[in-house]
Amino acid sequence: MPGRFFILFFFTNLCIATFSFQENALAQNKKTIKVMIDPGHGGKDPGNEASKSSMKNEKHLNLEIAMKLGKYIEERIKDTKVIYTRTTDKFVGLDNIVDLANKNKVDVFISIHCNSNPNRAIYGTRTHIHSNSFASSKKLALLVENEFKTRAGRKSRGVMDARDRGYNLQVLQYTTMPGVLVECGFMSNPPEEKYLNSTHGQDLIASAIFRAFRQFVVEENDAEDRTTVYKVQIMASKKSVNLKQKQFQDLDIRVEEYKMPGSNYQYRYMVGREYDQNIALKLAKKIREQGFKDAFVVTITEEQGQYKTNKTSR
Ligand SMILES: [Zn+2]
Repeated sequence: MPGRFFILFFFTNLCIATFSFQENALAQNKKTIKVMIDPGHGGKDPGNEASKSSMKNEKHLNLEIAMKLGKYIEERIKDTKVIYTRTTDKFVGLDNIVDLANKNKVDVFISIHCNSNPNRAIYGTRTHIHSNSFASSKKLALLVENEFKTRAGRKSRGVMDARDRGYNLQVLQYTTMPGVLVECGFMSNPPEEKYLNSTHGQDLIASAIFRAFRQFVVEENDAEDRTTVYKVQIMASKKSVNLKQKQFQDLDIRVEEYKMPGSNYQYRYMVGREYDQNIALKLAKKIREQGFKDAFVVTITEEQGQYKTNKTSR
């Protein structure tokens, strides 16, 4: 969750605006730390499918592990509040998951998934983050994988960011707080599928993630983090416009509204959340070709209040 936003516009005229948002709980030593737990898939979206009828589809495994994790956190770390994206077998949608996390201003986001691969010999855990340059997310991800490896006796396949993967994961890209997506094991590997379906296996997975989260919360308290991301501004308006309009929908990318009080065109519409300026510049070019001829790149520094490092914004 952003502490403060500084937005610098690189356009023909340089215009600087400062946004102020509430600091997050970890930074402020506030009483309650809010964590969002997202059991991946659900409802019409089963995720990876079970190999046989005695095993469960991914959406069910994710929900069971997520509920165990949430229970451990609420029972064993005082002053934490767990918010789930779903507690039943329903479809939520990626945009709604991002909105839930950002609007609830949660301090940490954890998405739970199970993996699959055509090669049934592949097994082990993997934790995804948006960028290795997001220090807090990386720290939490390394803690999770370390717990899997050292305490739960799992094979850790390590931490991956968008550059390693070659694609973005929307729930990590657009959520503005430290966040991880944990792949708890491969359903395509028969022994691991059995493990993922077992109470014992699920307990070990949930408690490993729980211990990583607890350590993260304890160690990150007081720290400060400032993350520079690049977005593409596609439109500015005097009045709020409908995000569901066709012109936006046709872009097939998440469009976000930013309010800039005091400015004549105070509603700004942005897409992307990139940590590499060149990727953002490429995105701006693509968006201009798609009809938003004035699209340009905006630099945003999100101050997480997690680390004391001083990355400069530009
Ligand atoms: Zn999944």
